[in-house]
Amino acid sequence: MSDCIFCKIANGEIPSNFVYEDENVAAFRDVNPQAPVHVLVIPKKHIASSAEVQDSSVWSTLMNAAVKIARDMGLDKDGYRMVINTGEQGGQSVPHLHLHLLAGRNLGWPPG
Ligand code: 5GP
Ligand code: ZN
Repeated sequence: MSDCIFCKIANGEIPSNFVYEDENVAAFRDVNPQAPVHVLVIPKKHIASSAEVQDSSVWSTLMNAAVKIARDMGLDKDGYRMVINTGEQGGQSVPHLHLHLLAGRNLGWPPG
């Protein structure tokens, strides 16, 4: 998608420091972090939201990458949260599937 900001980040059109990258996934720090660690993990392929996923392997790819990033960043000791906002009421603001990886403080529950 030519006008999608996360596609531009994934394909290098917008230069970013990836905290992780492989053939299918890119991960980078959120521009407006909500916790000391706030990483966005995205499929490189444009998928508008979790509701639009058709190939179920997207889930294993995304989740395995997020868990690996968390382990590599040493987050598994104190814990972390993975969040996928979907649609308007879910609080999704960027229409390209992304997983939030949050850590580094006690995270409240329930979310606002
Ligand atoms: P959502 O609200 O869709 O679940 O999450 C979108 C996230 O993307 C927000 O946390 C927002 O701060 C982040 N974001 C939006 N635009 C950019 C950008 O250009 N670069 C980065 N690194 N993060 C962005
Ligand atoms: Zn996109």
